[in-house]
Amino acid sequence: MTSTPLPGHPHIAYRDDALFIEDCALSDLARQHGTPLYVYSKASMLDALAAYQRGFAGRKVQICYAMKANSSLAVLQLFARQGCGFDIVSGGELQRVLAAGGDPRKIIFSGVGKTRAEMRQALQAGIGCFNVESEPEIDVLNEVALELGVQAPISIRVNPNVDPKTHPYISTGLKGNKFGVAHERTVATYQRAAALPGLRVVGIDCHIGSQITEATPYLDAVDRMLDLVQAIEAAGIAIHHIDFGGGLGIDYNGDTPPAADALWAQLLARLDARGYGDRQFMIEPGRSLVGNAGVCLTEVLYVKPGEQKNFCIVDAAMNDLPRPAMYQAFHAIVPLQAPAAAGGAAAQVYDVVGPVCESGDWLGRDRELAVQPGDQLAVLSAGAYCSAMGSNYNTRTRPAELLVDGGTAHVIRARETVADTFRSERLVAG
Ligand SMILES: *Cc1c(COP(=O)(O)O)cnc(C)c1O
Repeated sequence: MTSTPLPGHPHIAYRDDALFIEDCALSDLARQHGTPLYVYSKASMLDALAAYQRGFAGRKVQICYAMKANSSLAVLQLFARQGCGFDIVSGGELQRVLAAGGDPRKIIFSGVGKTRAEMRQALQAGIGCFNVESEPEIDVLNEVALELGVQAPISIRVNPNVDPKTHPYISTGLKGNKFGVAHERTVATYQRAAALPGLRVVGIDCHIGSQITEATPYLDAVDRMLDLVQAIEAAGIAIHHIDFGGGLGIDYNGDTPPAADALWAQLLARLDARGYGDRQFMIEPGRSLVGNAGVCLTEVLYVKPGEQKNFCIVDAAMNDLPRPAMYQAFHAIVPLQAPAAAGGAAAQVYDVVGPVCESGDWLGRDRELAVQPGDQLAVLSAGAYCSAMGSNYNTRTRPAELLVDGGTAHVIRARETVADTFRSERLVAG
């Protein structure tokens, strides 16, 4: 048997002609559980986490998985058992972490629009830190904490305004977006927060964007953060932890992001050089922990030749995997049986599209595939921001999800039923 791992996916490999995830043949899983189907590799997630842990060996760090990337309970449970905390963005995510056995003290709560009810819920759960994103939010959080007779631990999310020209893909750490407090307002905002009785300043944080594939923006952000820490501490306010956010990219299409350990070796060298290497650090990785651990399996329903385009119509759609429709994102699509073995169909260039009634419903464009109806395909890099962004559009039920551990596939989400999708709806009486 020859085993050929897919580039960037060490735990997904053709063994001879059949595509495996760890020790499970994906076509067997598709047959047993149906399609569309999400399948995740536990080893991939643990490897991705281990790269961060190696990078921070000997340092004080809390890794908070940014769970919006993939919030399935069993995924949260896996990371909680490894000692991870969680970066949450809603009260719903807080309840998920608690349901999965996560430690509330290791939760940080990000997001520009926290409601009073969510603040109350998080204070009652005893979360570790609120990452506050605006001056008005500071006042509201102070009020809510005083009503409960507690102090809210806070860090302020600063917007480091990392140069957009050299790094145009960074979308959340720039002037002119909704996230964080402007660099120039930071010290004044800390002074205001430190004076409020319902708040306790514990840290500072930033998050400069997502799918970042170079070290330079992080190095720039570290420098700007340290300038701010220096200025805030000079104003008499102690900063206990520094949170660098998430955003490290993955290989979707030959992308070459730095490995997490190599990146952090570089960043920690910069922190050491400036005398901050022994601080308490936090990071909030999402995509880089789970993105390349997952695939979405789908079956070819029809091949439809066209005058300008050939269409490969599959049973997964934009409601299952919205990133292509939302961001024109690229996901590699590969057959579960290597083309040589499949026989029959000749390779052609297809747009791979789903059954949803929208022209935006595509999973891949201009892909060379040798397919016929009944063949099965895997959409790669589907572990992050795929299932989690799914919907029931067209009354399509959510796919089942499996977590593979070696030769065992655990069902971590049963396929939704149509009855589930309208359980909370009511007809009008009379
Ligand atoms: C989404 C998000 C993250 C994670 O980003 P990734 O690109 O998935 O690593 C981290 N922190 C905050 C505040 C976020 O909104």
